[in-house]
This record gives sequence, structure tokens and C-alpha cells, in this order.
Amino acid sequence: MTYVFALPPQPTVPVAGGSDLFPVRRIFCVGRNYADHAREMGATDQADGREPPFFFMKPADALVSGTGELSIAYPPQTGNLHHEIELVAALAAGGADISVASALDCVFGYAVGLDLTRRDLQARAKEKGHPWDMGKGFDQSAVAGQIQPVAVCGHPSAGRIWLQVNGQTRQEGDLSGMSWNVAEIVANLSRLVRLAAGDLIYTGTPAGVGPLLPGDVLEAGVAGVGTLRARIV
Ligand code: MN
Repeated sequence: MTYVFALPPQPTVPVAGGSDLFPVRRIFCVGRNYADHAREMGATDQADGREPPFFFMKPADALVSGTGELSIAYPPQTGNLHHEIELVAALAAGGADISVASALDCVFGYAVGLDLTRRDLQARAKEKGHPWDMGKGFDQSAVAGQIQPVAVCGHPSAGRIWLQVNGQTRQEGDLSGMSWNVAEIVANLSRLVRLAAGDLIYTGTPAGVGPLLPGDVLEAGVAGVGTLRARIV
């Protein structure tokens, strides 16, 4: 048996501190996981900050990763490309119906990520009750810096998460502001799908999301995990 065309390239994220690569299987994202961002997006049902987590996906080949400054093409069909700085959990094991107590055992490491969003297309989809895919899952919409192994960074649950555009701070929050922590996210998601090694989970963004333009340079970081530099071209 032969394939009718060459196998597509395997998306990967570099692992910090060596030459290892983390092979990416799927990309899951959590919506509205910081109360301050939920408010800025107009959510009104956040009285206790614990609306059940909801998830969306990006294709694995939407990933932009590597070392050094990453280059991201301004996408088509939008006039309102937004940045969302996020902590990314990278799984080296999975399963279904994982308990909160054992969920962190699945995590290989953490990366700094950007959930790039065509906000105008997402807003139109919300209005019409349409899927978010074209607002969220377009080419080069999932950005990730190097993965810091848990052996080095542990499981960060507090610490600064920030993003600057052209040297100006746009987003600044703390991981402790997450409505659902990483263990709870993994446990919740594993009740919906069987998680597996290679899955990335973008864990939501704090307040301060805003537009990007060609030529913008982004610097972002998560305390204890690392930093990310990217340019919109
Ligand atoms: Mn997001």
C-alpha cells in the first residue's frame, strides 16, 4: 500500500533545553477562563466566575512554533485580528474520564502561546449562532513558544502572564486568575473526548485582548515558563 501523496509534515513544538521536538496531535482551547476577560467580552453570567468550561479547537497544522522570532502572516478576511496570550499545557499521556487528582500526571510541560482570533468573524458567528471555526481555527492561528518540561518548571498555578505589542503592555494578568485550573481543564475535557499524547491545551486569556496590524512585534511571557517573540508580516 502507498499513500497517494506525501504524508503532510508533522507539526511540532521545540522542547526547551535541548533538541527534542514535541509532536502535536490536536489543539484544544478553553473559552473565557479568566473572569476579567469574560467581562470584557460581554459575558453576563459570570457572577461566581465558574461558568462550566467550554472548548473549541484549531487544526494541528494551524500551529506556528520554533525558536527565535516567529513570523505570522496577517490572515485574510479580517480587519480585526486579536492577540490572546495563554498558558499552553502539552500532554504526553491522555485517557478518558481522568480525575482532577491524576490530571497533572498527563502534562509533559508548558509553553507560552497565542490564540490568534479573527474577532470580527467570531463576533458574526456568535450573532448568528454559527460555529467559531473560521474565527479561531485559521492558518497560523495557534502560536507556541518552546515547551518547558514539568521537570524544570513544575505545574505553574500562579505568576505573571503578559503580552506587549511594540513595547506597550496590552495584557497583564496572573495565572491564579484562571476560573478553571489546568487539572480541572484536563479532567473536564477528558469527559468529552479521549485525550492523547501530543494534545495541546490553550488555557484561556486574561483581559486586554486587542487588534494587531502588519509590522507589529509581540513579546509575551508566562512567569516560570518562558517568553515568546513574534512579528506580524
Ligand atoms: Mn483564547
